[in-house]
Amino acid sequence: AKHEGKGRWRCWEPDRAAREVTRQRLATTMRPAIEQGEFHLEYQPLVDLRDGALRGVEALVRWNHPRLGRIAPSVFIGLAEETGAIVPLGRWILTEACSRAAEWAAAIGRECPFLSVNLTVRQMWESDVVRDVLRALEVSGLPPALLQLELTESDLLGDAGRPVEALNELAHAGVRIAIDDFGTGYSNLAYLSMLPVHALKLDGMFVQGFGTTDRSGSRNDTIVTALVRLAHSLGITVTAEGVEREEQVSGLRAADCDLAQGWYFARPVSAEDLTAMLLRGTPP
Ligand code: C2E
Ligand code: CA
Ligand code: CA
Ligand code: CA
Repeated sequence: AKHEGKGRWRCWEPDRAAREVTRQRLATTMRPAIEQGEFHLEYQPLVDLRDGALRGVEALVRWNHPRLGRIAPSVFIGLAEETGAIVPLGRWILTEACSRAAEWAAAIGRECPFLSVNLTVRQMWESDVVRDVLRALEVSGLPPALLQLELTESDLLGDAGRPVEALNELAHAGVRIAIDDFGTGYSNLAYLSMLPVHALKLDGMFVQGFGTTDRSGSRNDTIVTALVRLAHSLGITVTAEGVEREEQVSGLRAADCDLAQGWYFARPVSAEDLTAMLLRGTPP
């Protein structure tokens, strides 16, 4: 700690140093950790708001570190972006998720839910993401129409133009494109008419506002209803994220939202649990 005069001590520096050491250590162990099988995927259901059917699953990566235990993706994805480890990690995620989804498709046939996989901006720039995706589809045998890729608005629009070409190629191959965390980034929606977007994932922020009776609550409902109507008029489906409560479900239904994802329906589960869920035909 550093003395700061008037008897006040600032204690954040050793803390920050320790965090930095942990960060460095995590950063250097990430690549070998991929080969050593320390990462695994969980899958969270996306449920149809009309009939409760399971329409899709989002793959969410987990790191079980041998000494540090479970590390949250909100910690290591950013680190993987900074160090470039996102490229091999992202490739592993795509391959692993697509091969699971192909097994599910083979087991349950026609009504199989789609698989949704998160991509980051560095993956778009640094790897040949189109080749990686097409290879994962080919190796697994998963039909392209059963794969959705999630990108955030800022990832797509932050640095001018290039990823657009990759998106067009992927969409052309039959893969669905979703905008993740929709509504938290850009206020200019013109890109929706220029990019091959199939789905919007409405950020949990909007969902939280449902079921409150004050003025801000009713404004929230109005905004969500308008966003859903806009999306539908462009042929885009809407998934609401972070749905935790009954009144949010009814609010989203009233707004004509298509799909919902959140703890109210199901937490992210292991591949084995999802297999059991799919064979039963319903979320838990
Ligand atoms: P995201 O893509 O917005 O994923 C949704 C997050 O919300 C997940 O957190 C999920 O577990 C959590 N969640 C689901 N339902 C609820 C709910 O009802 N209430 C609340 N409060 N949270 C809910 P998770 O798994 O910790 O992932 C955090 C973020 O890390 C993700 O946000 C995504 O940006 C990133 N991430 C996770 N897996 C991957 C991956 O495989 N690849 C990449 N590139 N990023 C990933
Ligand atoms: Ca996501
Ligand atoms: Ca999201
Ligand atoms: Ca997010």
